[in-house]
Amino acid sequence: MTLNPPPRLPVQAPLDVESIRAQFPILKTLAHGRPLTYLDSAASTQQPERVIEAVADYHRLHHANIHRGVYGLSQTATRLHEEARAAVARFLSAAEPAECLFTRGATESINLVAASWGRANLKPGDEILLSTLEHHSNIVPWQLVAEATGARVRVIPIDDAGDLDLDAYRRLLTPRTRLVAVNHVSNALGTINPVAEIIAEAHAAGALVLIDGAQWVAHGRTDVQALDADFYVFSGHKLYGPTGIGVLYGKRHLLEAMPPYQGGGDMIERVTFAGTSYAPLPNKFEAGTPNISGAVGLGAAIDWVESIGVEAIGLHEQALLRQATERLSRIPGLAIKGTARRKSGVISWVMLDPPIATLDIGTQLDLQGICIRTGHHCCQPLMDRLGVSSTARASLGVYNRSEEIDRLAEALEAIQASSRPRVQTADGGRELVYPAAVAESPQAAAEEIAEIFELLPDWPMRHQHIIDLGDKLPTMPESLKTEANHVSGCQSQVHIAARLKPGSRDIVEFLADSDANIVRGLIALLQQLYSGQRARDIMGFDAEAFFARIGLDRHLSLTRRNGLESMVRRLRRLASPLAG
Ligand code: PLP
Repeated sequence: MTLNPPPRLPVQAPLDVESIRAQFPILKTLAHGRPLTYLDSAASTQQPERVIEAVADYHRLHHANIHRGVYGLSQTATRLHEEARAAVARFLSAAEPAECLFTRGATESINLVAASWGRANLKPGDEILLSTLEHHSNIVPWQLVAEATGARVRVIPIDDAGDLDLDAYRRLLTPRTRLVAVNHVSNALGTINPVAEIIAEAHAAGALVLIDGAQWVAHGRTDVQALDADFYVFSGHKLYGPTGIGVLYGKRHLLEAMPPYQGGGDMIERVTFAGTSYAPLPNKFEAGTPNISGAVGLGAAIDWVESIGVEAIGLHEQALLRQATERLSRIPGLAIKGTARRKSGVISWVMLDPPIATLDIGTQLDLQGICIRTGHHCCQPLMDRLGVSSTARASLGVYNRSEEIDRLAEALEAIQASSRPRVQTADGGRELVYPAAVAESPQAAAEEIAEIFELLPDWPMRHQHIIDLGDKLPTMPESLKTEANHVSGCQSQVHIAARLKPGSRDIVEFLADSDANIVRGLIALLQQLYSGQRARDIMGFDAEAFFARIGLDRHLSLTRRNGLESMVRRLRRLASPLAG
């Protein structure tokens, strides 16, 4: 790492993707025996050898606590930490490194501004303008500060393509607007927002602007002074750097006027019990021992990105985005969500015909080594606006190549072709049949299930077995898909109707359903374990240990495990008072 700009390689068009890929050890690994196709860089980019080595070298050779030590090692660690800050300042074109504060990431940076600037400056009647496109991390901190101060959150709407409605923005800007907080790029749709225009208009109305640059900095040049941004935030792990490190850029005069965010060591000038004076910038906002190795890794990541050229990276991703948009548009029944005029390398979609839950799309792509993101992308208000609960999203990085887009499109076509229509259970009329016990007890059923799973040596085979079980699960009548039967905490739609078996005093039985095939398979497993069993036996069964035994703990995402646990909790809640 150096204080001076690293030599920029001549911009090559197109980039030499193969030599770039060779620098990422993870891209040489296999996923379920297939080459890894990593299309989730909007969630987190992978790290090149240079970043991994910079962090490892720091730990191997240079680690000590910073600022306080009089010995050489501490001074070297301090120098490396501050060189990283200088790299950030250069990368953002900030006026000085002291305006670049290290945080845990974009989320903490926004929370810092909301808590420090917000609590000191907002009063009842003031307004904070956000947009429909925001990530929860640029919504919830403002809701918290609005609640604490009496200020109000207002929202800039979008059009159907996912572009901000700038006329509405202008109407929403009033003398009451104190701050506008919008993202530079939408993580869910890829919309690139006209932030220079947004900032100019906000300033003309007397408001400050925070730009959430989490999804921009790795894809195009950032110049906070040219933008005239008051605050600009980003995370290291979306910029080929480590997790747990991020940046808050703020104009010096604003940061100086803001109260500290956290108190502790390193952020003070003098402490007495009568009162404390604070250190100058940036230390005032960096209480406690910081993430030194994270900063070193971020500095190395910035050097690495600059050695390729962030504009060249952006151009490469734009070419892949065009290919992906063109290729996915040709898949009948697939609807792309987000068709803004300017987009970064993000493509979101839903499968409408045949309808395939995004969770199933993600799970099935995973079996082919293709990593995408499914869900609400921490943008639930945006999902509500789009009229969907989730999308499938592929997002690009510098290491992606054209063949990977083809692989994705072919895999989606194959998923579509293999999708089977569900056998619908007629609603009303007939009496509903709740599944009877398949074994003497949940434990006995578990033994039978485990025997089958143990014959299936790998996750792809176990996954297929679960899907096959789900295929045989009768659909739940619509009349039972009520709010009361809805299970929260799942990534997909899940309903469960559990009851005491008519005529019995302690036998629990249930029907359940989901829009995702993988969840339907899990429901079928739960039915084998629990439906028709005695409450006492249900309460005595350790579901968590069983799921671990058949490998579900390792292969299900946290949200799916939570969903499974929510269903088990419901059954246990019904069983508990009957268990005697
Ligand atoms: N803002 C946007 C637009 C994001 O996409 C994300 C993460 O996905 C964040 C903020 C939060 O970033 P982090 O979790 O690194 O704090």
